[in-house]
Amino acid sequence: MYDLVIIGGGPASAACAVYAARKKLKAVLITDEWGGQSTVSAGIENWIGTKNIPGFEFAKTLEEHVRAQNGIEIITGDKVLKVDGKNNGFTVSTESGTDYESKTVFVGSGASRRKLGVLGEKEYDGKGVAYCSTCDAPVFKDKAVAVVGGGNAGLEAAMDLVPYAKTIKLLEYSDKLKGDPATQDKVRESGKVEIIFNAETLEIAGDKFVRELKYKDRASGEGKKLDVEGVFIEIGSIPNSEMVKGLIETDKYGEIIVDHKNSRTSRLGIWAGGDVTDDPFKQNNISAGDGVKAALDIYNYLIIGDKR
Ligand SMILES: Cc1cc2nc3c(=O)[nH]c(=O)nc-3n(C[C@H](O)[C@H](O)[C@H](O)COP(=O)(O)OP(=O)(O)OC[C@H]3O[C@@H](n4cnc5c(N)ncnc54)[C@H](O)[C@@H]3O)c2cc1C
Repeated sequence: MYDLVIIGGGPASAACAVYAARKKLKAVLITDEWGGQSTVSAGIENWIGTKNIPGFEFAKTLEEHVRAQNGIEIITGDKVLKVDGKNNGFTVSTESGTDYESKTVFVGSGASRRKLGVLGEKEYDGKGVAYCSTCDAPVFKDKAVAVVGGGNAGLEAAMDLVPYAKTIKLLEYSDKLKGDPATQDKVRESGKVEIIFNAETLEIAGDKFVRELKYKDRASGEGKKLDVEGVFIEIGSIPNSEMVKGLIETDKYGEIIVDHKNSRTSRLGIWAGGDVTDDPFKQNNISAGDGVKAALDIYNYLIIGDKR
């Protein structure tokens, strides 16, 4: 019986693990990969105390920090499928068929890329449709590409493509970009990104590879098309909360509802932090803070009981 099972290997879970080790909890961290979503970022510039760190380095530092702790067991390359409530705690079951019994659970499973759900998206996945600009931008050297999404992820994808693509069209559904003003400035200053507002993507088409993107101009209602050989889809994320579905309360987006004072969920014994929760701000520093709050509260709970 563990004191704590930590699900995930992003900033929320890594922070929870480091603090759990300092409290000498008997804990296991289970993650399919290290680093979380910003692992694909070319450079993270707001991880406090660090001016700029490439995403893959960031992932390495989180893993190294957790591995340097005594008493935290680490399982990588496995995925949690289900958390079940038992009389005296929880059973956490993974894809590999292993069950972990624990008194408490921390869910730091973050979020995954949202799909557009339009015709051609699945068919051309890997044949011009891409979801990771840091990984795939060089493949689109001298090609015309479209980026769907005007939030931070879309703006960063456009910037990743600037040194490679021949032309970049960024399609935003509404009449305003949603990303940080500083990132918007970078995109505008690049001089290479054409922003198309009010664009509703309808279809991705082609032959063996992507050749065009069809969209509706939501202002005029007119159907339009772009001749492109690549489409980067950057339209946000969906919370990875499947494993606790039905066990704890989530909002209409599937985000776990937490008490932001201590990261507790609706079920005593389960905590959650970071992007999988209903916190409106999705950031590395915030996720790490959630993990810290949870570990400290879990320790109090295990030592002195249900003190909220
Ligand atoms: C392209 C991009 C750039 C970004 N840039 C920045 C930035 O510059 N600064 C910033 O502050 N924020 C940035 N963000 C946001 C930031 O990445 C997130 O807020 C942060 O990663 C959330 O951390 P988390 O630990 O909650 O979850 P995540 O980072 O999503 O980590 C979740 C972890 O859980 C694991 N996992 C998921 N499901 C399971 C499961 N079933 N079983 C086991 N493990 C599982 C995953 O492998 C991963 O390790 C960026 C996001 C994106 C997409």
